Amino acid sequence: MRPIYLDNNATTRVDPEVVEAMLPFFTDQFGNPSSIHGFGASVGSAVKKARRQLQALIGAEFADEITFTSGGTESDNAAVLSALEAMPNRTEIVTSAVEHPAVLTLCAHLEKNRRVKMHRIPVDRQGRLDLDAYLAALTPHVAIVSIMWANNETGVIFPVARLAELAKEVGALFHTDAVQAVGKLPMDLKSTAIDMLSLSGHKLHGPKGIGALFVKRGVRFRSLIKGGHQERDRRAGTENTPGIVGLGKAAELALTVMDDATKRVTSLRDRLEQGILQRIPNTCVTGDPLERLPNTTNISFEHVEDDGIPILLSRLGIACSSGSACTSGSTGPSHVLSAMNMMHEAVRFSFARDNTEAEVDRVLEVMPAIVDRLRGSPVMSQAGEVPKAFNPV
Ligand SMILES: *Cc1c(COP(=O)(O)O)cnc(C)c1O
Repeated sequence: MRPIYLDNNATTRVDPEVVEAMLPFFTDQFGNPSSIHGFGASVGSAVKKARRQLQALIGAEFADEITFTSGGTESDNAAVLSALEAMPNRTEIVTSAVEHPAVLTLCAHLEKNRRVKMHRIPVDRQGRLDLDAYLAALTPHVAIVSIMWANNETGVIFPVARLAELAKEVGALFHTDAVQAVGKLPMDLKSTAIDMLSLSGHKLHGPKGIGALFVKRGVRFRSLIKGGHQERDRRAGTENTPGIVGLGKAAELALTVMDDATKRVTSLRDRLEQGILQRIPNTCVTGDPLERLPNTTNISFEHVEDDGIPILLSRLGIACSSGSACTSGSTGPSHVLSAMNMMHEAVRFSFARDNTEAEVDRVLEVMPAIVDRLRGSPVMSQAGEVPKAFNPV
C-alpha cells in the first residue's frame, strides 16, 4: 500500500512542474544574477519573473515589495527585528499566544536580552484572538504587531486586515506570518493595511529553504543579513536562484489552481472529519470550525495519551501529526492547544491538492481500531478488527 501523506501543514511535496522549472538553474543557467555578463542577465530576469509571480499570488501593488529570504523563519525574524531597529523609540511587541516558534522564540529572546516588552494576546477555547486584550495592548509604545494569518496547528484564521487597521491607529507596524495562508486563501495585500508578510516555499509545493518577506512600499526596513547589495540591500547573500525560480513557479501554480484545490481539500477534509466524528465517540473538532483553513482539521480524542494516534498511523504508512511538527520531540501539550485550554490528545490532518478520497477512506477504515487500542477498551466503539498490517506497540 502506498504511503498516505496528510501532514501538509508541516511541509508539502514539491510539484513536479516546480522541479522542472528549477532544473536549468542547476545546470546551464548557473550564472550569478549580479554579474554584468550574459550568464548573469538571463538568471536575473528569471528572478524578476519569480518576484512578479509572487506579487500576483499575494496581490501586492509592486513587485519590489517582495524580498527573497531563506524561508518563513528568516522572514519572521527580519520583520520583527527591522521594526525594532527602525523605530528605536518604541520598545513593545504585540503578538499572540499561538504564533509559530519563529515569532514566539524570537520575541521571548528579545524580551530577555533587549529590554523589549512583549504582549502575548490570548485566544479563547476555539482559538480565536481576544480582541479586548489586543486593543488594550495597542499603545504608542508598540513598534510592531506580529500576528499570524492562519494557525499551523488548528488552521484558525485571524482577521488580520482588521487587526492591521487597528495597529495603524497607534502608529505600529503590522506584520503577519502568513506561511500557512499563502497559496490557500485569496489575498489582495494592496487593499489592506498590512505592512509586512512572511511566506515560505515548502508550504505551497515549492522547495525548502526559500521564502519571501513582503514589505509595503514606504515602510522603513532594516536588513537582518548584512553583506552585499543583493535584493536591493534588503537581504545580502548570493540569491538562491533555483529556489527563487521554484518558489515563483509554485506561486503561479497555487494561483492557477486555487479555486479547484480549495474545493478539493475542503471536501476531503470534511469527509475525514465527519467520518471520524461519526465512527469514534468522544471526539471533537478543535478550533473555530468556520474561520479556518480549508485543508486543516485538528481533532481531539478524549482518553488517548500523547502521540499515540500519529505513531500507530505511521506504522500503517499514514502521516499526520499531533499538535505541531515543529515542536515534536518536546514533551507536553503544544503551546497552541494549551493556550486554547485543550488538554486532550489532538491530531492534525492537513490536506493538499494531491490527496485523494481513497486515502481518506483508508484512514477512516483503520482509525476506530487504533483509538480503541489506545483507549484500552475495544468495546467503546463499533470498530472492526485491528487491521492486518497493524503492529502492536
Ligand atoms: C512552517 C512555518 C514557519 C516556518 O517556515 P520555514 O520556511 O520552515 O522556516 C513559520 N510559520 C508558520 C505558521 C509555519 O507553518
